[in-house]
Amino acid sequence: MNTNGKEFNTKLIHAGAFDDEYGSATVPIYQTSTFKFSSAQNGADCFSGKSDGYIYTRIANPTIRAFEKNIAELENGYDGIATSSGMGAISSVYMALLGAGSHIISSDAVYGPARGVLEQDFSRFTVEASFVNTSNFDSIREALRPNTKVLYIETPANPTMGITDVRACAKFAKANNLILVVDNTFCSPYLQKPLDLGADVVLHSVTKFINGHADLVGGIIVAKDPGIYKKIRHSMVYMGCNMDPTQAFMALRGVKTLAVRVDRAQMNAIQVARFLEAHPKVAWIKYPGLESHPQYELAKTQMSGFGSMMSFGLKGGYEPGRKLMDHVHLALLAVSLGGVETLIQHPASMTHAAVSYEDKLVAGITDDLIRLSVGIEDVNDIINDLKQALETIK
Ligand SMILES: *Cc1c(COP(=O)(O)O)cnc(C)c1O
Repeated sequence: MNTNGKEFNTKLIHAGAFDDEYGSATVPIYQTSTFKFSSAQNGADCFSGKSDGYIYTRIANPTIRAFEKNIAELENGYDGIATSSGMGAISSVYMALLGAGSHIISSDAVYGPARGVLEQDFSRFTVEASFVNTSNFDSIREALRPNTKVLYIETPANPTMGITDVRACAKFAKANNLILVVDNTFCSPYLQKPLDLGADVVLHSVTKFINGHADLVGGIIVAKDPGIYKKIRHSMVYMGCNMDPTQAFMALRGVKTLAVRVDRAQMNAIQVARFLEAHPKVAWIKYPGLESHPQYELAKTQMSGFGSMMSFGLKGGYEPGRKLMDHVHLALLAVSLGGVETLIQHPASMTHAAVSYEDKLVAGITDDLIRLSVGIEDVNDIINDLKQALETIK
């Protein structure tokens, strides 16, 4: 369906969908690895690009294309590239935009493996990386080198909830000939549109808000410029980071309710945040929707809502944090985020356990930090669950 000029919720439901000969109401799962050519000439035309017929599912597939076009429209980009996972998206972007001897500036509180793959793998191909506090603009400027090619940011950052000024980064990137890549997983295109703020590439772990039901792993990249899009698609196809048709079908189903899920989750989140902020056992809380968040004003200028992710610390640090983990009943003790269910986790002992103590501190991941992804359950049940678990801490 042509959704040009339509608004966001309409695009969620219809963007990327196409009519088939049966009048299917949803995009079917084209579970096929390969596609027949009608003739030798047609095969030649598909490969040369003269015809846009499908060839092989790693390269492109109708169900996957529908999902790619859907997210590309939501992000106001040129086109999308769906991947097997969020890390598939990140690796494809690195592979396409970095080369021997090039340098990337990245947020220090970036998603752990997004940093790990640079330090442990791309470094073997002489790619240099600097991890800086991108919430402080001077640290980005100081990290610039003659060989810097990419500025990579995550905002809000994982799991410190620090906000990076996307417009300022876009200006800096343009002035210095860098490509600005934004991991928009925490916001989804419903709450933040990095390409509209000046970024060149936006990517997501589809696993989180876009799918929203904790039942698949996936990724997506959207580029603004056709040249950059083609480079990244080449890397994705050649490295084999493609999404699968059934994954794309489920992601298309999930994304339809993105706005209603996020609206509900963030309505819950502000109440949970206020409860935690007022609780005597809570030492601090960072939620972009609280006026106490150091970048509350900046958040308002680039996010249309504050989302449902927050982090907080308990008085007494590590042990009370672990105790809380062991006494919540409704909140699932699990990594991941952005689903309909409330999830809680303790990065110091879980996701960032392999990161050195010094690196954790530099990135703002203190031993007491607890990350909460607020779901769409009834808010009183979420608050009561946290309340009873907090009471077990003496
Ligand atoms: C989960 C996550 C990723 C990685 O996505 P996967 O789908 O798990 O590969 C990347 N960035 C952020 C911010 C995430 O939360």
